[in-house]
Amino acid sequence: MTPQIIRTKAELRALVNGWKRAGERVGVVPTMGALHEGHLSLVQAAQDACDRVIVTIFVNPKQFNNPSDLDSYPRTEEDDARKLARFDVDVVYVPGVDQVYPEGFATTVSVSGLTDVLCGAHRPGHFDGVATVVTKLFTQTGADQAFFGEKDFQQLQVVKRLAADLDIPVEVIGCPTIREEDGLAMSSRNLLISDRARIKAPALHEALSEMAAGLRAGGTATDLRQKAEAKILAAGFTEVEYLDLRACDDLSLLDTPSREARLLVAAWLAGVRLIDNIAV
Ligand code: AMP
Repeated sequence: MTPQIIRTKAELRALVNGWKRAGERVGVVPTMGALHEGHLSLVQAAQDACDRVIVTIFVNPKQFNNPSDLDSYPRTEEDDARKLARFDVDVVYVPGVDQVYPEGFATTVSVSGLTDVLCGAHRPGHFDGVATVVTKLFTQTGADQAFFGEKDFQQLQVVKRLAADLDIPVEVIGCPTIREEDGLAMSSRNLLISDRARIKAPALHEALSEMAAGLRAGGTATDLRQKAEAKILAAGFTEVEYLDLRACDDLSLLDTPSREARLLVAAWLAGVRLIDNIAV
């Protein structure tokens, strides 16, 4: 059944209050819509763990550091609702901007340290926007558990940090990255890649996998990085923004996987910025 769509925080709160009184566990899956199987895997995880599931769809203007990126971001609400019909979703919360940032809104949630590197270093203000909207969605939904993708690994760490630091009573759960058959990590932004460029896209994940294998075999990031970057550029990407081995917990830079580590990349393909990461 197509789930109920709610557009105001007052209606959402009334519903959630009822669930909480009945002792039900509430799960939330925050998204910006243009749903794909990656998002739907989070919905499945929420459904498996919780009595009630809220999917939020909000294209958050505060996390776009580039206005044309915000304008071109795909918006497919009807399709999204249809895709959710095969799950046990109780509510799709689609707030207007006024419900999240009412007139006079003046607060920013800013997580320091974790956001200085990787995407944070290349997209000024991005993680402040993410941290602020996620805090709002946590307080508006009152969710007990929240499901985020490892696809956005840095975001996942930032969200875990803010929930702990602000004593928000929500458990943040990371879920594995879902990929296309050729290895490309699913992303709403993949819709923006032209057919000609799409053929080149799997090189990103291939280069990551090869570099991870090299690291596992005892190589260093310094030695292996150049070859991986060359492969990505040779495939037709125009720029590699970063390609780093980093510690999972604090995202500090590593040369060998001496602690639990992640290899993370951002690169541009035909005007579209793609990110990916894998465990090492
Ligand atoms: P977005 O709509 O891009 O803001 O993403 C909403 C949520 O879906 C975030 O927690 C993402 O990390 C997650 N997500 C996006 N792509 C994938 C994927 N390919 N696999 C798993 N989770 C994903």
